[in-house]
Amino acid sequence: MSKTAEGMVLVINSGSSSIKYQLVDPDSGVVAASGMVERIGEDEGGIEHRADGETTERRERIADHAAGLRLIFDTFAATGHDLVREGVRAVGHRVVHGGEVFYRPTLIDDDVVAAISELAALAPLHNPANVAGIESARALLPGVPQVAVFDTAFFHGLPAAAKTYAIDAKVAAAHGIRKYGFHGTSHEYVSGRAAELLGRDPAELRQIVFHLGNGASASAIRGGHPIDTSMGLTPLEGLVMGTRSGDLDPGIVAHLARSAHLDIDAIDTLLNRDSGIKGLSGVNDFRELRRLIDGGDEAARLAYDVYIHRLRRYLGAYLIELGGVDAITFTAGVGENSPQVRADALAGLGGFGIEVDPAANTAEDRAARRISPPGAPVAVLVVPTNEELAIARAARQVVDG
Ligand code: ADP
Repeated sequence: MSKTAEGMVLVINSGSSSIKYQLVDPDSGVVAASGMVERIGEDEGGIEHRADGETTERRERIADHAAGLRLIFDTFAATGHDLVREGVRAVGHRVVHGGEVFYRPTLIDDDVVAAISELAALAPLHNPANVAGIESARALLPGVPQVAVFDTAFFHGLPAAAKTYAIDAKVAAAHGIRKYGFHGTSHEYVSGRAAELLGRDPAELRQIVFHLGNGASASAIRGGHPIDTSMGLTPLEGLVMGTRSGDLDPGIVAHLARSAHLDIDAIDTLLNRDSGIKGLSGVNDFRELRRLIDGGDEAARLAYDVYIHRLRRYLGAYLIELGGVDAITFTAGVGENSPQVRADALAGLGGFGIEVDPAANTAEDRAARRISPPGAPVAVLVVPTNEELAIARAARQVVDG
């Protein structure tokens, strides 16, 4: 192994049944190792670990998150990085919901862990898994500073008019009901990179960012600060996603309860796991959706049309909220890899100065790049997101002061 882990940050993204991780140099962005533990708690789980161009795989039952993290550390040790002996500069944890409490990267202590646990009411699937990852990492690396980086933090300062739901204000206040927004680390990183790419000061830019992965969200950013975003109290609101419905008439929930006799957990599952592109077409991956559409599948075609229609609705809303736009940026799995989605999302908007250059849009290029024609009034960009690097840098900043 070429380099010791000492100056690096271990980034941990602990989900309900998986732990994704990366050992990264926050200065250079070089990734020493990365991987994922999957199927925690199931009969057969496993790890896939990549380091130095080699992939190591192991299949075994992983009882819980603590066992998952031990397996990660064992695999590191077996492939040349004894993290316990070498030490790391910091551990950066992705935490999904920071509620009203956390709006900047935060050094973790017992009180912070307790506060993140208390926010589980707002993110029952996510925050307990995040806490499990934090507790396991603290046990394995007791002397190493651990930093929580919150998915909601970037959107903390949303204007009141954008973050307030028009329901009984007392009920909303009692239950923490407001728009929080998610994917904040990505929206912040990508909008910063977009400004760099354009050689402009973020303070003078009006930006719209589309983070289109399995989960999908849009944000409107003025002067480096978000003024609106599509996800809400939970990551269910907004755009059509791989398996989530995005925006609905809230009356549908009551209707399903009365007519389909679904209880609240069944409705939650329906809307989060069995809706979106998957609910409409049967598949949730855009590459499969494209194959179905090319084969003449009408349900797949409709799913795609609904997806684009919703995207354009947000584009129009944010264009007006911002009073015009200087840069529109696409990121994440679909945003980075689907020229078709980018072209269809922005089709016919030349009158607004929004144009996509077909050759630039379809070029095989992995780098951050402009896909609008030279001289177009609105810059259209593709910027690969890198949430792990953003978390590593945030953690380093907290630790170094
Ligand atoms: P996550 O939200 O899980 O982080 P990603 O940002 O990795 O998701 O996006 C995953 C999705 O990206 C896949 O489900 C797939 O729909 C889409 N995707 C990945 N590669 C391509 C590609 N080459 N063309 C179109 N879509 C792609």
